[in-house]
Amino acid sequence: MSLNVLSHPLVDSLLTELRDKNTTSSRFRRLCNRITTILAIEALRDLPTESATVETPMETFHGRKLGCGVLIVPVLRAGLGMVEPILALVPQAQVGHVGIERDHETALPRSYYSKIPALEGQRILVVDPMLATGGTGLHAIRSIREQGGKNITVLSIIAAPEGVAAIEAVAPDVTIFTAALDRCLNAQKYILPGVGDFGDRLMGTI
Ligand code: URA
Repeated sequence: MSLNVLSHPLVDSLLTELRDKNTTSSRFRRLCNRITTILAIEALRDLPTESATVETPMETFHGRKLGCGVLIVPVLRAGLGMVEPILALVPQAQVGHVGIERDHETALPRSYYSKIPALEGQRILVVDPMLATGGTGLHAIRSIREQGGKNITVLSIIAAPEGVAAIEAVAPDVTIFTAALDRCLNAQKYILPGVGDFGDRLMGTI
């Protein structure tokens, strides 16, 4: 597995503001948007391209265009905050959804919704801002694989070592891009130092 942790002063500064408990939800959304933009640019650096020829007003230009489709799969609900900035970069991308919640009896993640379009030839971005235990991310990866998806990258804003290890153990071919690798999980499986509940802060439901 390849783990890529962004190293950029702009990301460091955006993350510090994101973590601040006094940051409002509207600002939190803007920060999530900006960090995701940088993450996506990095994660899509190796997208295949193919030749494309256009006429400039001056002469013929032999350039490149994207050589594969991009599918964004947000893990509901917090992943929704990462969709729009990726679509701004790749407007032709498709969006699938997976809804995963923790079963109160078994404490295991279970899917309550899944809508994933055709996966053939797609570069698949699973977007889950907090890669904590890795349980929801792995559930999404399994659903995508069951439908034939292969080229999977996980984008998270903050990852815990426990989540990274879980994905590495079960899906070593999956690439992870994260803006920060934090210290550990607490007993309630929240990331430390983290941001608290990402979905609540994003949606303003605190
Ligand atoms: N989900 C969150 O929203 N926050 C965490 O710290 C871990 C999982």
